[in-house]
Amino acid sequence: MANKALKLAIVIIIGLLLTTGCATIGTVKSLLDEPSFQQENLPVRELKLAVATDGSRSRKNIEELIKKTSDLMEKQVGVRLIISHWFDIYWRSKDWDEMTDIFAARVQNCKNEFDVAVGFTNWNMVRSQAFVKKNRYIIIRNFTVHAFAHELGHAFLVGHSRSGLMAPNTGPFSGATDFFTAEDRERVLINKWRNFTKD
Ligand SMILES: [Zn+2]
Repeated sequence: MANKALKLAIVIIIGLLLTTGCATIGTVKSLLDEPSFQQENLPVRELKLAVATDGSRSRKNIEELIKKTSDLMEKQVGVRLIISHWFDIYWRSKDWDEMTDIFAARVQNCKNEFDVAVGFTNWNMVRSQAFVKKNRYIIIRNFTVHAFAHELGHAFLVGHSRSGLMAPNTGPFSGATDFFTAEDRERVLINKWRNFTKD
């Protein structure tokens, strides 16, 4: 009986190792230190962000998250995040779609001066942890590098993937990773210099 339990434990442990290991298989994580990979990320694009907060996240915390996300993006695709504008915002609605419209209206007067707009809230919304519209207006509720970087992937016209950062399901057992697959990174690089200011 004890022997059987031990065998079962071993099987479970191996299973867990395989599942957690999967998170990095097929992503660019293992390539980050290679000179040729780093060369492909140059020149660095500075992406200007219009940042909005409803006050539920502090400016300091938002700046920290942007810095961490910037570091992650820069080492994978050579995109660096720069805050160009700050806005206070009242969302009025808890519907993602309406919220992005409110957001676009709020930043309208400087829409040619920034690349991507990102708004933060911790309102408890029904669906989704983050949202992006017109590949430019991002709203983040799940205050993580993962959520932000994933939406930035969409801003560079990358759709959903079965694995890596662009996988849509990022629950605790879905092998969530902060790294693009090689294919998705390639797509970001192709669209890296896209002009966000023309619709
Ligand atoms: Zn997505």
